[in-house]
Amino acid sequence: MLIDAFDRKIDYIRLSVTDRCDFRCVYCMSEDMTFMPRAQVLTLEELTEIGTAFVELGVSKIRVTGGEPLVRKGVTQVFKQLGKLPLKELTLTTNGSQLPKYAAELKAAGVKRINISLDTLNPAKFRELTRTGELQQVLDGIKAAQDVGFERIKLNAVILKNRNAVEVPELVQFVLDNHLDISFIEEMPLGSIVEHSRALEFCSSADLRDIIGPKFKLEPLQAQTAGPSRYWQVPGYHSRIGFISPHSENFCASCNRVRVSAEGKLLLCLGNEHAADLKAILRAHPGDRERLKATIVQAITIKPERHHFDLNSEPQIVRFMSSTGG
Ligand code: SAM
Ligand code: SF4
Repeated sequence: MLIDAFDRKIDYIRLSVTDRCDFRCVYCMSEDMTFMPRAQVLTLEELTEIGTAFVELGVSKIRVTGGEPLVRKGVTQVFKQLGKLPLKELTLTTNGSQLPKYAAELKAAGVKRINISLDTLNPAKFRELTRTGELQQVLDGIKAAQDVGFERIKLNAVILKNRNAVEVPELVQFVLDNHLDISFIEEMPLGSIVEHSRALEFCSSADLRDIIGPKFKLEPLQAQTAGPSRYWQVPGYHSRIGFISPHSENFCASCNRVRVSAEGKLLLCLGNEHAADLKAILRAHPGDRERLKATIVQAITIKPERHHFDLNSEPQIVRFMSSTGG
């Protein structure tokens, strides 16, 4: 069976394995964020069961995310189980801090591509943006991932106009020198933050290309990928320079993805509250995969057609990206 929303086959899920994180990035969570009690979070077995149900429904790509997926105790068990499913892609989004410990195991479990978040190469700025992180941890994580030989490693950088926009050319140089890809992301208004104004910090992808332009020649890539990033290349280099532009270049029309939060909510859209409670089904009817699949199929029919992010009003979505599963 295939699951469709509008004319799009849903073949990609983001599975959040925890809402916890060792960093507290300023755009992603508040300084005093409290995490969910353990009993509310899906167990490792439930995570695998949900992944399996989606694959039986035709999903061929799973990205494991969080919170920080690699701080979840026993998480490699989930990768090992998901790695046995007939998937085209098993991928991971991580802040990189635990990669020196887990890179080899992840590769062995079948993870081929990983995304690592890195917003700046300046150690003081890194500490300011992540509140608790050390730049060197992430640089070591990138190195560990390269050493075990993942097919592609992509950096994700959320760019804030007055905080790290000036560092964008340096990040471009870093990915070119290290044979990495990068996506620059416009900040999304998820959850309420007090440290900066999302409207004042907004930096559009077009503005970023203007910042990069004088230093690097950017040519649009002919063969784009199916995801939300629009890619460019610097002639003579393999690195892909991507831009994810939820505000300035809305990509809802081609969205073929849904998310499962760490507490088992099937979220149909990042920018809307439409959701179904998969954990409730799993716990009320353990082992009943057909019922789980029927719930998923039914939920997909309410996938909204687009988000309506508005930088100037209070966030309409009170969930932070870390609890949604970014
Ligand atoms: N902890 C992992 C990490 O940082 O890569 C995985 C989870 S994190 C929520 C996934 C992605 O969401 C990261 O690339 C992060 O930069 C991005 N993100 C978090 N909050 C965001 C926001 N408000 N707007 C845009 N992207 C955001
Ligand atoms: Fe943690 Fe990732 Fe959110 Fe940063 S973006 S606080 S690393 S979940």
